[in-house]
Amino acid sequence: MRIAIGGFLHESHSFAPRPTTWEEFRNPGGFPGFVRGAAMFDTLRPTSAPAAGALSVAEPRGIDVVPLCWCFANPAGPVTEEAFERISACLVADLATALDAGKLDGVYLDLHGAMVAEHFPDAEGELLRRVRAVVGPDVPVTASLDPHGNMTALMAEKADALVPFRTYPHVDMKAAGARAMELLIGRIERGAPWSRAFREIDYWTPLTMQCTMVSPMSDVLAERARIAQNNGVVELAFCFGFPYADFEGCGMAIACYGENQAAADAAADALKSYLDAHEADFAGGAIPAAEGVARAIAVAGQEGPVGPVVLADTQDNPGGGGHGDTTGLLAELIRQGAPATLGIINDAESAGAFHQAGEGAEVAVKLGGKSDGVPAEVQARVLRLTDGCFTCTGPMSAGNPADLGPTALIAIGPVKVIVVSRKMQAHDQALFRHIGIEPAEESILALKSSVHFRADFQPIAREVIVVAAPGPVLADPSSLPFAHLRPGLRTRPLG
Ligand SMILES: [Zn+2]
Repeated sequence: MRIAIGGFLHESHSFAPRPTTWEEFRNPGGFPGFVRGAAMFDTLRPTSAPAAGALSVAEPRGIDVVPLCWCFANPAGPVTEEAFERISACLVADLATALDAGKLDGVYLDLHGAMVAEHFPDAEGELLRRVRAVVGPDVPVTASLDPHGNMTALMAEKADALVPFRTYPHVDMKAAGARAMELLIGRIERGAPWSRAFREIDYWTPLTMQCTMVSPMSDVLAERARIAQNNGVVELAFCFGFPYADFEGCGMAIACYGENQAAADAAADALKSYLDAHEADFAGGAIPAAEGVARAIAVAGQEGPVGPVVLADTQDNPGGGGHGDTTGLLAELIRQGAPATLGIINDAESAGAFHQAGEGAEVAVKLGGKSDGVPAEVQARVLRLTDGCFTCTGPMSAGNPADLGPTALIAIGPVKVIVVSRKMQAHDQALFRHIGIEPAEESILALKSSVHFRADFQPIAREVIVVAAPGPVLADPSSLPFAHLRPGLRTRPLG
């Protein structure tokens, strides 16, 4: 059996301040850069990428795996036309070469599902259309997806199966890749496509309500598993979507693959009915930063369990398209004199100034705010400097290399800040440990993250408080100036 493997991952925020260029795919923080051909599998195997899970299934079975290309960029604005065309061209050209070299039995793709390109809002739909056009109707194609993917009818039609992760925080990325490869092998052996059903849900859920560690989303995932089993379907794919993409396909969706049409339809309809009936459960959100900081200081000062109070700065989440440099929460921590450590402020210019000044120096800088023009004017003491390179250790990303460029730990009164040169969502304790901070011993941790931080930080947290400070990843996205959503869609539960 001979199977081609490729990947092209991005989560695009239509209103984020910066577009995603080719350079971002060459040098992303937290994942390997663009890789093509022979080096690809060695690069991916030690990581938590879904493609590594797919390899872990295919290689022990002696399947002849053919590398195409693979790349990832951190969430930000739409992918530029240039970047999308360059990367798609590589992937499709390598696929054509593989087809010319011999019979290809199948294709597995490691995709995110929420990519918007400047010229194709349903970017994965377009990529799958191109792949299908080259391999023809009879070569099976499966793809793993992030459940933040905005799954579309075009994607469901062009793939033989779409397999999203079942968790947020995403601790089963490799498992989803492995499952997509298992299904691909099953589909090759079956010799014919499964029946499929596709359904869209007519309301959005805010990111902070999508965490699968707690209700209501934990209940939805349990129901998904029960429905899939009861109906005997091969895959009941559920994506809760990324509610920041301005096109008609944005939102929650279900794609079901089954032995017959009746089973696929029944399972898809059952899950849709469950979600329709539970819309009110998804209303909820974040509290203002001033209130959150005051509460964190109060809780941190109480007797009782140890561990940090965690403040999640959800609206500047670099994993949701934030630049990781807004200063609203930082200003509030300074104003209230909070004994807190903030990870991160993404500001290469200030990090460079701290490195030039050296450890122990006092430096006056306009910190952060490059993305929105609101820096914090501070006098900072440089505590420690690093090259920003470390290996992640948390349940989501263990083994992944991080390279955040020149990095500094600074103190502004009682507030400490990790200043980096390349952004990364603060979802891994190694970010703190690599610069000499033991997270469990801090009294308050402020994290640029919405939900992913919970995998590694909730176990050590005394309390978690989700706050809303200025930033593009709005806790309530319905206030963004959308112009291309489908009619009838509710951009907030019961909205
Ligand atoms: Zn995601």
